[in-house]
Amino acid sequence: MRYAMAIDTKKCVGCGDCVVACQTENNVPIGYCRDWVVENVAGTYPRIELEIRSERCNHCENAPCVRCCPTGASHIVEGGVVLVENNKCIGCGACIESCPYDARYSHPDGYVDKCTFCLHRVQKGQDPACVSVCPTNCMYFGDMDNPNSDVSKVLATRKFKVLAPEAGTNPQIYYLI
Ligand code: SF4
Ligand code: SF4
Ligand code: SF4
Repeated sequence: MRYAMAIDTKKCVGCGDCVVACQTENNVPIGYCRDWVVENVAGTYPRIELEIRSERCNHCENAPCVRCCPTGASHIVEGGVVLVENNKCIGCGACIESCPYDARYSHPDGYVDKCTFCLHRVQKGQDPACVSVCPTNCMYFGDMDNPNSDVSKVLATRKFKVLAPEAGTNPQIYYLI
């Protein structure tokens, strides 16, 4: 099993519902977030395109945040999901420094926090909170090892990219372009 997410940059309108849903679902403290929206202007005049992306932890297969964690708090579980075990985290911040995607933050309670792919929902057969609220249905989540999953089916038919491929992390968030 290999969980992944595909996000359609052609359908995202930047409403931020995914950010609010995540904060609510995961009790993210006010002023912090596990996901965020990026607006990128690409191309040159007169062919300028605006790309809007919802970003979060990429649940990298080759995760520097896991390698550098001195206590084993950052670890990989079923489906390749990268998690932080709060009570093992000493808040040293090495993982924050190592992440090419700036996907982690220091929680005011003294540990480092980030996207969990909403594993608590996924284990109950639900989509992650951000995926379930998106008004344009631009996010697809599922098992890459299952050819019938939403994410496998959309990646089989669309062009996509990953962020910072040069970092060699093998990220598992795919952007449909
Ligand atoms: Fe984009 Fe969907 Fe997030 Fe809105 S909820 S910002 S459309 S990904
Ligand atoms: Fe770790 Fe950052 Fe990759 Fe997430 S995106 S697995 S925090 S290196
Ligand atoms: Fe937040 Fe869950 Fe979406 Fe990750 S998968 S950004 S934890 S709502």
